[in-house]
Amino acid sequence: MNTLKTDVPCNMDPQTLIQTVAADLPEFEARDRQQTKYTTCYMCACRCGIKVTVEDNQVRFIQGNPNHPINKGVLCAKGNSGIMKQMSPAKLRAPLLRRPGTERGAGEFEEISWERALDILEQRLAHIRATDPNKLAYFTGRDQMQALTGMWASQFGTLNWAAHGGFCSVNMAAGGLYTLGHAFWEFGDPDWDNTRYFMLWGVAEDHSSNPIKLGLKKLKERGAKFVAVNPVRTGYQAIADEWIAIRPGTDGMLALSMVHVLLQHQLIDDEFLIRYTNAPQLVVNTPGQKGDGLFYRSEEGRIQVWDLNSDTFADASRADIAPALFGEFTAPDGTPLRTSMSILVEKYLDDEYAPENAARECGVPAETIERLALEMAHVAFKESITLDIEWTDWAGRKQTQFIGRPVSMHAMRGISAHSNGFQTCRAIHLLQVLLGTVDCPGGHRPSRPFPST
Ligand code: SF4
Repeated sequence: MNTLKTDVPCNMDPQTLIQTVAADLPEFEARDRQQTKYTTCYMCACRCGIKVTVEDNQVRFIQGNPNHPINKGVLCAKGNSGIMKQMSPAKLRAPLLRRPGTERGAGEFEEISWERALDILEQRLAHIRATDPNKLAYFTGRDQMQALTGMWASQFGTLNWAAHGGFCSVNMAAGGLYTLGHAFWEFGDPDWDNTRYFMLWGVAEDHSSNPIKLGLKKLKERGAKFVAVNPVRTGYQAIADEWIAIRPGTDGMLALSMVHVLLQHQLIDDEFLIRYTNAPQLVVNTPGQKGDGLFYRSEEGRIQVWDLNSDTFADASRADIAPALFGEFTAPDGTPLRTSMSILVEKYLDDEYAPENAARECGVPAETIERLALEMAHVAFKESITLDIEWTDWAGRKQTQFIGRPVSMHAMRGISAHSNGFQTCRAIHLLQVLLGTVDCPGGHRPSRPFPST
């Protein structure tokens, strides 16, 4: 008969089994010596709220904090194992030195004092600094000390330094900033309450954060469509309504090809573009000459648009005008100008971005690219959502409302691993503004105040 380690027969009835095993366990529930500390989990970047039970100054166990707005009590397996960060027997507690005469990789180390470790390092680093500081490659892990470690590296003189964030969280933050206007979940997330079509771009499958799980649950309950763009179908992708199996590193092209389709079918939110973006602002159009590509400004330095009401140039931040979204104009001194939107249309209507060409690069069929763009536009243009939120527009005025379409897009950390990073985030953001998505309030800098203000 199989037995447990405690010699308890496996076929014992569950109740008796629990009592028998419990009798064997050490006494650890000394509740009178326990305290609950409230803090946030640091096992990933979500910062879920946690309740940590501490006994005799030692972490006993960790629970989710039901009152925390991010995770509402949910704690993932990684968060649960946060206790190992403090208690793991494998945790380094002193410097280790490879035993003299042993091979690298053999794992033969001896513990040495901090003084000895510092002496060894000082000797080695002094030599590198005196000869060629760039020979020091310096990398630090996840911490809140990157300003200090970076300062140390630059004082040392090496260019070869990096930290965790450059490969992971900074990319995640950049993705969040471009697509949602928030770097991390504690500052905000996709508009789970209004979104009817949600596209998740390049989110790392190991980053199954509680806030996103809770958000996806909300979307699913409401019957919103969830599309995941990712080379692998694990994590969130596994529960997506549609998984776009993209070739790694080509997300930017997919987004720009969808931009191409929207422009081709004239499925763009003109009003949104005029109200919230710099699309109508005028740009100098003198290829190969001085000033080309710069915004056209008045003598006072104010960026100009063409006002359709008065048929003349006007300050872009004025509320009482009707800026032209498209068009070519001539400044009083003869300088040719065109709107930012006209430049954008010319660029992305190019065949380079046609679904047939993007399909070859991304490994996503041309029909799928076209269908996704049209499907999103169909959902977006069926209704608009008015959010009563406070924000500051481009002109520095306080606004109390935001009007957007019920489509959300979120790009995140995995973007660094299998796509074009910042460029991709910009391309996805371009899709958002053309559709006028509801997530845009913080995601870009609105250019004009509401006419009513
Ligand atoms: S998602 Fe999990 S690991 Fe990340 S902060 Fe929340 S509980 Fe911790």
